[in-house]
Amino acid sequence: MNIITDPQELQRQCLAWRSEGKTIGLTPTMGYLHAGHTALMDRIRPKCDRMVVSLFVNPAQFGENEDLSSYPHDLEGDCAKAEAHGADLLFAPAPDAMYAPGHATWVEAPALATCLCGVSRPVHFRGVCTVVTKLFQLAQPTVAVFGEKDWQQLAIIRRMVRDLNMPVEIIGQPIVREPDGLALSSRNAYLTKTERAAAPGIRKGLLALRDRVVAGQRDAAEAKAWLKAEYAATLPMGEVDYIDIVDPADIVPVERISGPVLAAVAVRMGKARLIDNILIEV
Ligand code: AMP
Repeated sequence: MNIITDPQELQRQCLAWRSEGKTIGLTPTMGYLHAGHTALMDRIRPKCDRMVVSLFVNPAQFGENEDLSSYPHDLEGDCAKAEAHGADLLFAPAPDAMYAPGHATWVEAPALATCLCGVSRPVHFRGVCTVVTKLFQLAQPTVAVFGEKDWQQLAIIRRMVRDLNMPVEIIGQPIVREPDGLALSSRNAYLTKTERAAAPGIRKGLLALRDRVVAGQRDAAEAKAWLKAEYAATLPMGEVDYIDIVDPADIVPVERISGPVLAAVAVRMGKARLIDNILIEV
């Protein structure tokens, strides 16, 4: 596996592969890889001749009081995991290599970015759209994979790719979980023992919400209020950032549940802000 830190070198290599007729798969990550990330790699490995994994903690998608400076990292471990899962090239640029002084061009996120995570993280999706566009320009992928854990991000990227005619197929990968149901996340490393023991309650609440909706609860406000009360009772150390029920493609809140919906939550537990979601088919 080749390790590249220089964006221009990555682009040269990937353009050369494309001119030889090779297809390229891209797995973008912020590093500190876990089984959720490697599932993304396993998903696209059979769909491409060359697989690029990127590790980049993108400053542009972090707000002022977020965890940019403390985000966990383990370059050596990440290299071993990416290589074991078939990466041909690992791209790990420094922030100033990706954003030259005076960087001033941004890809604005579509309206899908206004609710859920967009409320408490107002610059987040502009940063995501910009860095994903840059990674697509550099790695020239024919296929790229994103996790459904960040469902809103996946929906935004699909819309951006459609709206801007980007020649790349986007694949969504289901959420990989711990045996107790907690969605894998690099940020789980922030949890104390007590917080970690309570954190599966996030998923349990979503499953119970789904059961209520399937059993006939159709008023979204009532369903959300129920989950809020459930979290208050079962997750006292969790501070709910949002609980919402939205259209899964357009990411707009629904009032009456009359078709498939996405229930999505963000809960702060100590230093960690954990997100999770569940697709509910009625
Ligand atoms: P991150 O490093 O957290 O930015 O995540 C990089 C990619 O991995 C994103 O597309 C995430 O949605 C995806 N991802 C992270 N955790 C999981 C998980 N538990 N299951 C599936 N995909 C995940």
